[in-house]
Amino acid sequence: MHSVRFLFLPMVLSLLLSGCAQTRETSSTIFAMNTVMELTAYGDSGQQVLDQATERIYQLEHLLSVTDENSDISAINHGEGAWVPVSQETFQLLSLALSYGRETQGALDITAYSAVHAWGFTTGEYRVPGPEELAELAARIDYTQVELDPEGCRVRLPQGMQLDLGSIAKGWASDLLAELAGGEPAIFNLGGNVRTAGDKPDGSPWRIGIQTPEAGSSGYLGALELTGSQAVITSGGYERYFEEDGQTYWHIMDPETAAPARSGLKSVTIVSPLGVYCDALSTAVFVRGADWGADFWRTHQDFEMVLVLEDGSLWVTAGLAGSFTLAEDYQDLEVTVIQL
Ligand code: ADP
Ligand code: MG
Repeated sequence: MHSVRFLFLPMVLSLLLSGCAQTRETSSTIFAMNTVMELTAYGDSGQQVLDQATERIYQLEHLLSVTDENSDISAINHGEGAWVPVSQETFQLLSLALSYGRETQGALDITAYSAVHAWGFTTGEYRVPGPEELAELAARIDYTQVELDPEGCRVRLPQGMQLDLGSIAKGWASDLLAELAGGEPAIFNLGGNVRTAGDKPDGSPWRIGIQTPEAGSSGYLGALELTGSQAVITSGGYERYFEEDGQTYWHIMDPETAAPARSGLKSVTIVSPLGVYCDALSTAVFVRGADWGADFWRTHQDFEMVLVLEDGSLWVTAGLAGSFTLAEDYQDLEVTVIQL
């Protein structure tokens, strides 16, 4: 009996080892779309997936960057009230952005860009605009005035209006990367916006950290364990911000006031299989607040979320209650489960 077991052990071990070799993990880190991106793909074609993913990200950045003078978005913003032809991809993402604008009753408004710029978030020359300037800026934020011409693949903005797709571009990019993985397992972390493709080869769930929404902190408040293809996308006021006279100002604007949105939230994490939808909602819920988000969740029922409130409490939708765990340092946090 003993000798048989003795014989089997090396066989089992070598099987296990070759199993590991078969699901090789390949990773790379790049800087694009203003953020650090970590790309990981599994299997023999991992390096190929990463090479294609990298090329795709730079290609999208070139189309969508608001600061690249040769991008489609720059062309639209410099259109001076005339029709501007754009690539099909830009047109498609713009159409999506406008439909999410309607769905979120204008909480997501891509024409908030002039305000983002006036507050200095595009240049780093931060300033607090006065009330008159804010009123002027707010009057020019209105996504319903963006015109699309599907036949000519053209876009037109009223003079003086500017837009950017920063609120959904990374979520959208993450979906395209997952598609590109072609059924092979992969995980893409685009500056805290995570997208998985397939199941992790070792059979364990993907473990995705929810960042502590404190300025300067790199710790995790908790983690989600998820299987299959999912996007986990976070918006918050703790990464792009400045302080003046004891106030903190961040880069997500309330389209109604043209000032940083103060809805009582520190961060919003949205989970669904569609990254672009998660990205749109993470921004929109951050603008409108926890109660609005909970209502939106109840009426749509096609995503889940984790909210960190300014009062220190944490809300998790019922669908995630079983997959979310608090980190060791945060065991005392009160977790409220949002029910239907
Ligand atoms: P991040 O890009 O930091 O992950 P978001 O997805 O929330 O965060 O997008 C924020 C970006 O979207 C800002 O940098 C700005 O360009 C733009 N933006 C700010 N406020 C809004 C808004 N209310 N609707 C749409 N876009 C916005
Ligand atoms: Mg977003």
